[in-house]
Amino acid sequence: MTVDVPKELPMVKLEYVVAELERVKAKKVLVQAPQGLKGVALQLSEELSRRGFDVMISGGPCWGGCDLALNEAAAVSADAIVHLGHTKFVKQSTIPTIYLECRYEHNVDVEQLVMKSVHLLRPAKKIGLGMTLQWLNLLERVKQTLENHGFSVLYGQHENGRLYPSQVIGCDYTTIKSVESKVEKFLIVGSFFHGLGLSMITDRCVVVADPETMHVEDMTQITRKVLMQRYAQICAFRNSRRVGVILCTKPGQKREGLAASIVSALRKAGKDAYVLVLNEVDERFLPDEVFDAYVNTACPRISIDDHAKFKKPILLPSELMVALNLSSWEELIYSYEYFRWCMRND
Ligand code: SF4
Repeated sequence: MTVDVPKELPMVKLEYVVAELERVKAKKVLVQAPQGLKGVALQLSEELSRRGFDVMISGGPCWGGCDLALNEAAAVSADAIVHLGHTKFVKQSTIPTIYLECRYEHNVDVEQLVMKSVHLLRPAKKIGLGMTLQWLNLLERVKQTLENHGFSVLYGQHENGRLYPSQVIGCDYTTIKSVESKVEKFLIVGSFFHGLGLSMITDRCVVVADPETMHVEDMTQITRKVLMQRYAQICAFRNSRRVGVILCTKPGQKREGLAASIVSALRKAGKDAYVLVLNEVDERFLPDEVFDAYVNTACPRISIDDHAKFKKPILLPSELMVALNLSSWEELIYSYEYFRWCMRND
């Protein structure tokens, strides 16, 4: 995959990064970015090198703000990390970390995007609006355009301020769930990925509008299909004897206490269970010859979006409760409980 290198890094962002690095007295810097922003990482690294910093670029994958390269930074004795493309996720970082959000600034035809969404949103009148970080600059324009079409629009705040108002990420929809009781449908401006996540935890219809492709979709049918696949995994899991409980070492996905309590619950239920420690939860690294099934305490979207890659059932902790008959499937689906466990960071 090739990545475009931007012609110019906005000066204001460069000056901000330089000022922050000087504030924490950093000389050696590790620049980390998701795949789509590796070109920006290169551009930033060139500029920082010119200013006298000793700069390295993290070559590993970067899936979210949860995936902070603390181990890599420690291994190369970096004084600071510059993390591109995500908001702060890890509460306490052992190495000073500067977050550079990188919002899209190119022109989007908001009127056309909203027009395409309108027929999927009607006859509802009250709409809950959610945005992904890179499109947050469009928030007020999308809201105003929806209002011009006769909708009333609400968006919520995050309960601990970790996300911007209206902002959603793949495992946290707190902002938009907070207005659920006051709206009839939701509109997510972002990707299919974010629309699906919300649609699994609400009984309201979710419409997703992607400003990059201008594609608009009602998530109802695809969500039903995904939930049927999840229930099939729960049924298959019940036949398992030996279970690997995945504990991820990424700073924002490491839930040691949760993994230990799941091992206890599985053993109590008569299964043979062990904690399986991984950095990348990838089907190539799972010892399928040893385990009949897995419980995933890392990123919930690995189980949901990548399930077809795995040969064995890979349940979320909330789904395990259903498999062990400790809660019901009907209570879990379309409820916040599906992802509540991943809001814990211990
Ligand atoms: S845990 Fe998964 S969905 Fe949540 S921020 Fe990390 S990569 Fe994204």
